[in-house]
Formats: sequence, C-alpha cells, structure tokens
Amino acid sequence: MTTLRHLAAAALLAGAAPAAPPPHAVILFIGDGMGTGQVAAARAYLGRPLHFEEFPFAAVVATEPAGGGIPESPAAATAIATGRRVNNTVVARAIPGDGSDLPTALEFHRDRGRRTGLVTTSYLLDATPAAFGAHANTRSDYAGIAAHYLATNGPDLLLGGGLLLDPTTVAAAGFTVVTDRDSMAVAATSGVARLAGVFGASTMPYEVDGYGSLPHLREMTDAALRFLGRGDAPFFLMVEGGKIDLACHGQSILYCTHEMLEFERAVDVAVAWAGGRTNVLILVAADHETGGLQIVADNGPGALPTVSWSSTYHTADRIRVHAAGAGANRIVWSDHLADLHGILVEPAFPPPAVRALQAPAGGDAMALSWTALSGRVYRVESAPDPGAATWTEVGAVTSAVNEMLSHPLPAPDGAPRFYRVTGDPP
Ligand SMILES: [Zn+2]
Repeated sequence: MTTLRHLAAAALLAGAAPAAPPPHAVILFIGDGMGTGQVAAARAYLGRPLHFEEFPFAAVVATEPAGGGIPESPAAATAIATGRRVNNTVVARAIPGDGSDLPTALEFHRDRGRRTGLVTTSYLLDATPAAFGAHANTRSDYAGIAAHYLATNGPDLLLGGGLLLDPTTVAAAGFTVVTDRDSMAVAATSGVARLAGVFGASTMPYEVDGYGSLPHLREMTDAALRFLGRGDAPFFLMVEGGKIDLACHGQSILYCTHEMLEFERAVDVAVAWAGGRTNVLILVAADHETGGLQIVADNGPGALPTVSWSSTYHTADRIRVHAAGAGANRIVWSDHLADLHGILVEPAFPPPAVRALQAPAGGDAMALSWTALSGRVYRVESAPDPGAATWTEVGAVTSAVNEMLSHPLPAPDGAPRFYRVTGDPP
C-alpha cells in the first residue's frame, strides 16, 4: 500500500499577497499540554464547544522538536516564538546550529515600538514565557532567563508565579512590583512604565485549590490588556495556561478540566477586550499534549468525563490551534508549531489564496491537505510550473464543516508537477 505523504509543510511556494496594515495588537494564548483530549474534557464538562473552538480559523499542527520525538515545552515554545525547531531543552537559541540567539516574536514587536508582555500560571522563569522573552542553552538557566527579562529592553509586563524570582531584584531593575490581585489591578492602570506581578514563590495555584488574594488567569489577562493597551498603544501579549500540563502529568481529570475552564475564561477576556476591533489578532495554541488523555465517556454537563491516560509525560500528538481577527486566516496553512511564528510576526500580510506544492518526480503518491471552511468549494489544480498562467483542475471538494480536507494526488510520472488549492479567499 502506498503511503500518502501530506505536503502541507513541504516546499511551499507562496503566491503574491496584497499588503494590509499590521494588527494593532497580537494576543497569543498557549495552553501548556492542551491536546485535543484536554479540550474534549472541558467540552464534555461544559456541554458545549469552548468559545475559542468556534474561532473562524483552525489548523492541526505537529509539535516535534529538532530531530523528532516527544516535545518538551522549551522546544515547543521556541518553535512558536521563533519559527525554528530546536533541541528539547533549548530556549530560543539555534541549537542545533550556531548557538546564536533566535529572534522571538516578542522581540519582533518590541523592535517595532510595540509594548510587550508575558503572563503565565506557571512561574515566570518557566520555559514557555522564557522562549518569548529570553535566550538560554537550557531551560534550567534561570539566572540567564531572569537577566533577559530584567534587561532594559526586556518585556514591559510580567505576571506569573515567582519561583526563583526575587521581587526586590525585579524592582531594582525598574519594574513596579505587585504581589496580589488588588495591587495588580491598581498598578495596571496607574501609568507605570514596567509592571511585574510576582505571585508567590512557586507556580500559581491550581484553580481547584483556590487563589486567595492571587489573581486568576482571566484577571491577569484583563490587567495585561489594560496595561499594554493603555492610550490605545499597539502591543504583543503571550498568555500561558501553564498548569494544564502539570495537572495532566499527575493524570488528574479534575485539575485538568478546571485549568481548561479558566484558560477559556482568559481567552474570553481577550475576545471581549477586542470587541468590535478588526485589527486585533487572537491566536490560541498549545505547545504539546500531556498524558495521552482520551475521553472514554461523556458524563454530561457539570460532570467530569470518564477518561483514560497513556502517559505521565508528554506525547507527540498533533494539537489544534485556533485564530480570530486580523490575519487569522493565515493559520490554515500551518503544519507544525514553527509555522505559527510567521503569523505572529508578519501579520501585515494576509495569506495567499493560493500556494503551490512541488511534487518531486519519482516519489510516492501524495495528498494535498488543508484546513477548510464550512460550505466552501475548493479546487485542486496542477501545472508544470508554479508561474504557469493556466492550471488544470484535478479535483474539487466541498467542505461540510470546518475540517481538515485531503485530496489524493496522482503518483508523479517523472516530471515535477505543482499543485495548489484555490477557493474563495477566507
Ligand atoms: Zn510538561
């Protein structure tokens, strides 16, 4: 039997695309360990899809680090932040490679005069935020990560758990430091230049265990949007639901589900903030799946589903990403976490309605796959040259729902062929 090779990430030749103004704000959510099972668990508990599942654009992406295998958070977050696959414990450095600092999406926006922020329910020096705001050969170089954060060109906003981060040192670096919910809410609108919420000396609590005077993820998100967006300034914000992963390492469907519910609430805060703006991009991603979580039985709204776990560690399962707002349609061509980087840093350019794939001569039979929107007709076309004026239709597909579509391509006959999917521009 011939293996179908999916070409969505291979040898892409982008068509011309018209320029559009860059979005006012780019807001990235990352659910650490949030695979499709984690989303399904929350969906079962709520008895409805999560609101971000109903964003207009989605893609299913691979998460492997450089060299393949099971991802760790540093490599997965680095892929999103920099567009490069690195070794598992590396934070935004070219390893393998020359070891240089890889420019991050946060730095891209910073260098264009936009304000930047990092929010997490894990600890601030943990791998996911670090991959956006720091560079290190290993995730455990906490001193190196802290030095990047506290440098004068570091993020303007840090909100998260305080493990190994001394509030006094943070304040000495020029941040206004807050340590509870109420002081955070006041400082967020007080006009201070740089704001750090150093909440406790560990990660933030689990939702199930209660938050006391500390801010929930939705409250940190609200404060971040008020702080970064004040005066209608453009900004980049990364918000991590960091404890979904930890709950799933412990194989607790109770803890996992309630972390997921809070993650959805945080996304909802951003959606409400964006309101009627058309120039805000909201991207909801995960870094990898944790636990091999599967739903065995949906026990109805308000009840935890019956589940199975296959691991106490991460898996290499593909994860779903969702996008809404300016440039969100570009997500549909993503095949790996690293493809998301381009959406975060070049959102001024909408995706080409057409991309071409080169089918190598003598290869296996292949399939073209893409994320389709409900009700649209897609035509698969072929030409001998990507610049050909005339393309020959080799098939057409209509999507009944928003889904991944795949169309088989003929086996190469010796001559390179190029294939593309056309449809109404999203
Ligand atoms: Zn983990």
